[in-house]
Amino acid sequence: MLTETQVREFKKLLDDRFYELREEVRQELLRTDDQTYIELAGQVHDLGEASVADLLVDLQLAEIDKHIREIRDVDAALLRIAAGRYGICKDCKSIIVVERLRAYPTAKRCHRCQISHEHNYPGSGGPSM
Ligand SMILES: [Zn+2]
Repeated sequence: MLTETQVREFKKLLDDRFYELREEVRQELLRTDDQTYIELAGQVHDLGEASVADLLVDLQLAEIDKHIREIRDVDAALLRIAAGRYGICKDCKSIIVVERLRAYPTAKRCHRCQISHEHNYPGSGGPSM
């Protein structure tokens, strides 16, 4: 099991990643020259994970879409932390090794289950952990 300190470290990592992603999304919106998007950029600034994803979910911008998916992954990981389920594989319920979490803080499966998931659903949305 992860220690409380480790969980706090991962939470910090995920929070930082979220702020980074939100800023990138904001910059991309500002770059579009589209008044609607530029107004959205102003709102994005103060929102939390789930709200940002919801606000932008209908935008058909490929670059932003990728970020939104990652924001959702970050959001889900933070929810698992809040629920005390962070670092537990969603398929087999075993503990995800800390090295894997360091490499993929949003990982929701252990390595073994991830491989069989990708085997069962080839090409289903790329590197979704
Ligand atoms: Zn597993």
